[in-house]
Amino acid sequence: MATDGQTSTRPRARRIGIMGGTFDPIHNGHLVAASEVAHRFSLDEVIFVPTGRPWQKLGEDEDGHVIDAARAVSPAEDRYLMTVIATASNPRFSVSRVDIERDGDTYTVDTLRDLRKHHPDAELFFITGADALESILSWQDWEGLFELAHFIGVSRPGYELHAKHLAAHLGSLPPDTLQMLEIPALAISSTDCRARAARGRPVWYLVPDGVVQYIAKRKLYRAPKASSPGVSA
Ligand code: ATP
Repeated sequence: MATDGQTSTRPRARRIGIMGGTFDPIHNGHLVAASEVAHRFSLDEVIFVPTGRPWQKLGEDEDGHVIDAARAVSPAEDRYLMTVIATASNPRFSVSRVDIERDGDTYTVDTLRDLRKHHPDAELFFITGADALESILSWQDWEGLFELAHFIGVSRPGYELHAKHLAAHLGSLPPDTLQMLEIPALAISSTDCRARAARGRPVWYLVPDGVVQYIAKRKLYRAPKASSPGVSA
């Protein structure tokens, strides 16, 4: 910053939010979180990054054995397209394919390293809900994570938003490494949207209109045996 009354010639670094998620499907809770963080932290853009193979969401069969994520999670292309549809109306929102094009399980540290390569001079802000934040110390290379981006933890109904248990682990990292933000409470989850769609109950106004239509057109989340009428108004 210029202190002698002259204007600094150094341009301000671009401030980029990163909203990672399975987005199966993307819902209004995700969009409000991104929008609130963009506003409060003066972000220039928010990049939504649908996971490739979400290691935290591998399925289990009836005997409790881990099954392939592909059977538990909708195809990456569907989740990507729903995210594109949901974010299209906001010029500050975009969608990245870095995670779905990387082989293997998706780890946030890889996401951030890839995005850092694409945006070497930007300041990165990783947005995460209170539920995900609770488990962040189990994420791969969590210490490396905090060197790659600021972390913004947003409130989510049903979860405590506190970082006390993280503070001891963050040690001497700068205080703005992890910040908390209260956002409007939307008790929406992808799990509930999938369950509603499977039972033929409406998901209108929980997810953007275009996503309702995409779910219906692609017959996503329908129970395998039930003669479900699908998504209805
Ligand atoms: P699922 O129900 O399948 O576990 P989800 O609704 O938690 O999915 P994700 O795609 O896993 O959705 O979430 C991506 C990110 O968005 C996570 O950091 C999560 O904490 C956050 N998030 C999801 N829903 C909300 C919400 N209603 N309010 C605030 N943050 C949310």
